[in-house]
Amino acid sequence: MEKGDCPTCGKDMSQHDEWQAYLCVEKFIKVATNPVAYGSVKKIMCPTCKGDMGDHNEKQTTECMNEFLKDVTSEKA
Ligand SMILES: [Zn+2]
Ligand SMILES: [Zn+2]
Repeated sequence: MEKGDCPTCGKDMSQHDEWQAYLCVEKFIKVATNPVAYGSVKKIMCPTCKGDMGDHNEKQTTECMNEFLKDVTSEKA
């Protein structure tokens, strides 16, 4: 997977330590699963499968985010 900007805070994911990556992913999941509550009007793209987060059910969201987190944190090992 191509490393890129954080879907939550817009910074480069390589500048995130493991905890920061976790926090951003947690927040991303909240926004993606409840865009209305967070006032997000634009479509949220999944950083893992590049699909529309609106097309993900809860299980898919969890799976994609686990994959994303694994990907961004494994680089530091
Ligand atoms: Zn971030
Ligand atoms: Zn996905």
